[in-house]
Parts: sequence; C-alpha cells; structure tokens
Amino acid sequence: MSVAEELEKLKTEIPAGVNLVAVSKFHPAEMIREAYAEGQRLFGESRVQELLEKIKELPDDIKWHFIGHLQTNKVKQLVGNVSMIESVDSERLLDLIDAESEKKGVMTRVLMQVHVAKEETKFGFLPAELKEYFSSRKFEQLTNTHICGVMGMASNTDDLERVREDFRSIANIYNEIKTVISPDLRGFDTLSMGMSHDWKIAVEEGANLIRIGSRIFGDRY
Ligand SMILES: *Cc1c(COP(=O)(O)O)cnc(C)c1O
Repeated sequence: MSVAEELEKLKTEIPAGVNLVAVSKFHPAEMIREAYAEGQRLFGESRVQELLEKIKELPDDIKWHFIGHLQTNKVKQLVGNVSMIESVDSERLLDLIDAESEKKGVMTRVLMQVHVAKEETKFGFLPAELKEYFSSRKFEQLTNTHICGVMGMASNTDDLERVREDFRSIANIYNEIKTVISPDLRGFDTLSMGMSHDWKIAVEEGANLIRIGSRIFGDRY
C-alpha cells in the first residue's frame, strides 16, 4: 500500500479523541508530502539535524514533535522550531529547555518521558523520580515551559501481556500526577504511548496520542 492508502486506512481504525503523530524519521520529505496531501499535519522526528532540514523543505503549517533522545548541546537548535518535545528525560534537560525558551521568548510544550520498559538502553525518568518531581512542585520554577503530559514506551517484546502491563504502569503514573499529586496543573492532558505494532493496546490503556512510523511509511533503513 502507498503512504496515502496506509494513512487513510489507519485513520479509520483510530478512535475519536486519539491524535496521530506520523513518525517520519529516516524517510524523505517526498513521503511526508504524500501524508500531508492526505491531510496529516502532525509529524514526529528523532534527530535534530534531520528535523531542521525537513522544516526548511516542507510546508509551514506542519506541527513537528521531537520524539528522540535530545542531547543537551542540541537544545538551542531545537527550541522555537517544534510544536512539542515529547522526550524530556531528565531535569537537567528540562531546565536547559526552559532557559533557552526564556532567552528566545517562546513557550515550549513538553512531555515527560517515563521509563518502565525492561531494556536498560531506554531513556526516561523512573516512575518514582517523576512522581518526586511533581510532588516537590519543581515545575513551578519553569517560566517558559509547559508540561503537557507523559510519554512512554513498552518493553520491546512479543509478550503482549507484558506490553499491556507497561502501558498500564505509564497510564497509572500519568493519572496519579494528574488527579492526586498535582491536580492544579493546567493543560496536563496528554498521554503519548503506542507505536506501529502496539498502538491498539496503548489506546485501550488510555493513550490519547500515538506515534506511528513504519506502519505508514514502511521500514527504515
Ligand atoms: C521510531 C519511533 C516511533 C515509531 O515507531 P514505529 O514502530 O515505526 O511505529 C515511536 N516512538 C518513538 C519514540 C520512536 O523513536
């Protein structure tokens, strides 16, 4: 199937209230144009350089979400160029994003990435660290960053029960922050989880933002 056909089919499967980030990393601007022609406006990229090149080539009304590990030395290049940074994985990174946003006079929207998967290589706050961040109300020090919610990934396994448990843990943390720890936080309403192979489980567990790449654009090389 073409990009347009895959996207069209996918959109009939995604329930109302769930937003789709079309993950276009490693794929050429051409393919993004195909999805754009189909009405898709929200895209995800995981490398700063690649993203900046694509921004130059593609229409201005595209909303870009940064979803990869962000190195602190790339924060300057990214801030002001994206609609959301979904992958904030440390307080240090968050503080740098805030300082750079203040310098540029912009408000940056972010998600806090939480790590529940078994793999040691995945980035993110541990659940306890994330809860501590909110219960200590450190977010009140941010002037130019809006924390909009939580992003997470399930373990990379064929064990779908395990995948479901991971998504449930991520959703529980999100809900606890939202309703118990910091119920006064405004605009904390986004739970980003689910990729090509596991997004249906993620949505069942409460995701309202899903990030799908290979299902739309094919394999990455
Ligand atoms: C690449 C990537 C995706 C998309 O993965 P697919 O399996 O291609 O759908 C989603 N989220 C993150 C953080 C990614 O890096």
